[in-house]
Amino acid sequence: MAEGFTILIDGKRAEARPGETILDVLRREQVETPTLCNHQHLTPAKTCRACVVELKGSRPLVASCERKAEPDMEVRTDSERVQNARRGVFELLLSQNDVSTAPGLVSQAEQLGAVPDRYRGQKYERGFFDDNKLYVRDFDKCILCYRCVEACGPDVQNTFALTVAGRGFTAGISAGFDETLVDSACVFCGNCVEVCPTGALMDRREHTLRAQGRYDESQQDVVQTTCSYCGVGCQLDLHVDRRRNEIVKVTSPDQHPITLGFLCVKGRYGYSFLEAEDKPEEAVKGA
Ligand code: SF4
Ligand code: SF4
Repeated sequence: MAEGFTILIDGKRAEARPGETILDVLRREQVETPTLCNHQHLTPAKTCRACVVELKGSRPLVASCERKAEPDMEVRTDSERVQNARRGVFELLLSQNDVSTAPGLVSQAEQLGAVPDRYRGQKYERGFFDDNKLYVRDFDKCILCYRCVEACGPDVQNTFALTVAGRGFTAGISAGFDETLVDSACVFCGNCVEVCPTGALMDRREHTLRAQGRYDESQQDVVQTTCSYCGVGCQLDLHVDRRRNEIVKVTSPDQHPITLGFLCVKGRYGYSFLEAEDKPEEAVKGA
């Protein structure tokens, strides 16, 4: 195994291992570093610039999620330049986006002291799409982090239904040539929904319950089970509203060795039969 080496972070020595990014080292050293597009199971898209650091010898700031650590690197995370750049990223996002379902983004913005209305001006409405039975797309909440594109592409799903289309303010996530999802290549695995950090992509049931003021995570229990649709054995976490004994969504743990949090359409969305009036056990009881 290749030997580790040291780098300097804010003047302190830190151990790094070959292949690690600067962000990997920052996290191990518990140096608070904001991230938005970064996801543990996806290739860094390097789009958000929230994790930038100063690197001795580099004129521009570098994205710590992407830059590999090298021996004797000197990294600064605590300089005014870094803090200003990070704060600016969040202030621009807060000025343009609906962040009502993005608590992670809001708390990171608060920690950086971002001023939500520093950049006022015209907001560009990018549309709400409600074109299928399983999930909705609200692009006024989209921060163009590309996580959904990566998850639909080679990192997870290999379906390639999503891409980024348009430029500047009109850039947005598109299924094919702005087709409806039903007419696109989408197979409705929901893995893009799973990785979306802002709620721009949201399961229909969660969206409906939120709109009715009935979505309350404090009233939900997580029940573990194993998907029975095939022999792979994916673990399912059923999020059950205990007030109504109703499944509100299905996920899988992101550290599960089989799923890494990703599922197929059957595991994620194929549970409505449990709520059917004539489900088998009732039919048996009535026989
Ligand atoms: S549901 Fe699955 S196939 Fe459809 S766009 Fe999302 S990741 Fe791609
Ligand atoms: S829809 Fe969600 S995951 Fe996709 S780019 Fe927008 S914020 Fe990121």
